[in-house]
Amino acid sequence: MRRIVLLGPPGSGKGTQAVKICEEFGIPHISTGQMLRESSLDDPELDREMKAIVARGELVPDDLMNELVKERLNEDDCANGFILDGYPRTMEQAAFLDSEVGIDGVLLLDVPLELIAERLGGRRVCLNCGASHHVSRLKSGECPACGGELGTRRDDAPETVRRRFQVYELSTRPLIERYAKQGKLMRVDGSGSFEDVTSDVLACVRSAV
Ligand code: AMP
Repeated sequence: MRRIVLLGPPGSGKGTQAVKICEEFGIPHISTGQMLRESSLDDPELDREMKAIVARGELVPDDLMNELVKERLNEDDCANGFILDGYPRTMEQAAFLDSEVGIDGVLLLDVPLELIAERLGGRRVCLNCGASHHVSRLKSGECPACGGELGTRRDDAPETVRRRFQVYELSTRPLIERYAKQGKLMRVDGSGSFEDVTSDVLACVRSAV
């Protein structure tokens, strides 16, 4: 069983590395950010409210996130493990996750802020499949995964990125200590080349059983 959490600031490469882990271990990649961007809540007013929160770089309320994740983790494809990307983001979410399923390992992608700013500025997302890419690795203006049109994320605008960092420092960074105390934290230097980071990440996931 591999139940893994990917932790790290916005733009640290969680989504990109999660795709690699998925390919290697055949466990689903659960990105709560992507879930929020792609799905609509039944209640249209609540849905608008939630999308506005995401656009401002704030956090969607814990209760709503916990429900969404609980439902997703109950699906059959999660029976042998999963990789959570972007959840938990608060102590409350982490406590909920522990009470629901428990976690085998937490991977922290450590990346200096200057590098992150550069990465987020160059991030392009596929408007069709949602995959993230960096302009420096793109050979054409199309999504390498599906050929779809590429665009930027609304919340990658510089002022929103600043807010997302503040939110990370305030609400999410404290999780590092929580998981370190539980003996579950694995740190990976996320500043190297994509291939080097991937190989370190995969080695950590291999050891987390
Ligand atoms: P991400 O794609 O992980 O960067 O998430 C994009 C945005 O979705 C975040 O800035 C939040 O507004 C929202 N979001 C994603 N995951 C969570 C979460 N676990 N708790 C609260 N808000 C979240």
